[in-house]
Amino acid sequence: FSATEVTRAHLDRIEQVEGTVNAFITVTGDVALATAAEVDRKRAAGEDLHPFAGVPVTHKDLVVTSGITTTAGSKILADWVPPYDGTVYRRTKAAGLPLLGKTNLDEFAMGSSTEHSAFGNTTNPWDTTKVPGGSSGGAAASVAAFESPFSVGTDTGGSVRQPAAFTGTVGVKPTYGSVSRYGVIAMASSLDQVGPVARSVIDAAALHQILAGHDPHDSTSLPGEVPDFLAAAQQGASGGALEGVRLGVVKQLAGEGYEDGVSAAFRSALDLAAAQGAEIVEVDCPSLGYALDAYYLIMPSEVSSNLARYDGMRFGLRVEPEDGPVTAETVMAATRAAGFGAEVKRRIILGTYALSAGYYDAYYGSAQKVRTLVQRDFAAAFEQADVLVSPTAPTTAFGFGAEKSSDPMALYLGDVATIPANLAGIPGMSLPAGLSEGLPVGFQLLAPAHEDARLYRIGAGLE
Ligand code: GLN
Repeated sequence: FSATEVTRAHLDRIEQVEGTVNAFITVTGDVALATAAEVDRKRAAGEDLHPFAGVPVTHKDLVVTSGITTTAGSKILADWVPPYDGTVYRRTKAAGLPLLGKTNLDEFAMGSSTEHSAFGNTTNPWDTTKVPGGSSGGAAASVAAFESPFSVGTDTGGSVRQPAAFTGTVGVKPTYGSVSRYGVIAMASSLDQVGPVARSVIDAAALHQILAGHDPHDSTSLPGEVPDFLAAAQQGASGGALEGVRLGVVKQLAGEGYEDGVSAAFRSALDLAAAQGAEIVEVDCPSLGYALDAYYLIMPSEVSSNLARYDGMRFGLRVEPEDGPVTAETVMAATRAAGFGAEVKRRIILGTYALSAGYYDAYYGSAQKVRTLVQRDFAAAFEQADVLVSPTAPTTAFGFGAEKSSDPMALYLGDVATIPANLAGIPGMSLPAGLSEGLPVGFQLLAPAHEDARLYRIGAGLE
């Protein structure tokens, strides 16, 4: 197939199902076809091309794309057309991947259901009465609905892995620093990582390979060579990858609080792995009991600081007060009141409180200590196991509205298994592990920092 044919087929599919799925905020058909035509021209001329040139991709609408609206799922950026490219978009463009569009997300990536988007709900292609997960719900749904072969998402506390789990796809949160954050709208900078969503481990590795690499524009970007993720996945898929591999079941991330169907699917995935020669051990990470609390202090603290830039002055929405004087302060207040949704406001307020004088040590300071303990627990656990495993989320995809999302605390609890990896900066992967009552269950693998290739090798073996 030519790149143009492949791209057209995906655009047709988008047209066919978008009315129901709503995975996209913006579809960029012309941009995609122009890239595809360029790839076909180069191929015909015998020019050098990236091996994946012509395979279309989508980017979460948190990735800055020059000339293409970038909303972060928020009214405050609804009409913002950026003047530059985020590194990850620049990299997929350079590899010749046609951009099909920008996918839906919870506003500023805050949420677990994509219901906090200012651009409507995305549905779960497995059951359209259920959420696709979040915040990269559009990314995951676009892959699950065959609108895109793979997709770029972001994961601050599980936002790639949990929607992957809910939609039966593969989602990876790379080691912190593996993929550049330059030109990715910041949520909580010490936790944010860009990662791939795909329909197989090999496809995820291929996209990660394109995204990763040192970037001088991101001060936390890792130096050095990018490991060969694709070769690791191919090796894992060729058999025998589980022989003698120690899978550490994290005591704190299994059992109580997990739906029966989720636990059952997780256990049968472990049995299958054992049948292929894996050794199942149990590991204890006591401080994970405090990880969720630490995350919900550190994350909003960073959010409150990162979102201070949306002030109605520099870019994005500007709203003037209905009455009274027009000053910097009143414009800022009116803009933020109109532009931010309830969840974003809640987190800004929580973060501002946690960082305020007199509370800083009690809240932010204690949370940072927990973060260190989580890192130590993981380091100790990785002495006993090659990868750590758990269900990705305590439940399968839930219904819209009342079932969960109306209660912020209930929604936050769903992140219990994914956030420890962000606190520790280690890589994590969610793989499909069968169904519970017709809905996909996710199986999570965690590896030590910089060992992303291990996830691809073992993940491909488990797949
Ligand atoms: N669900 C988590 C939250 O609401 C994670 C979000 C994310 O990873 N971007 O904060």
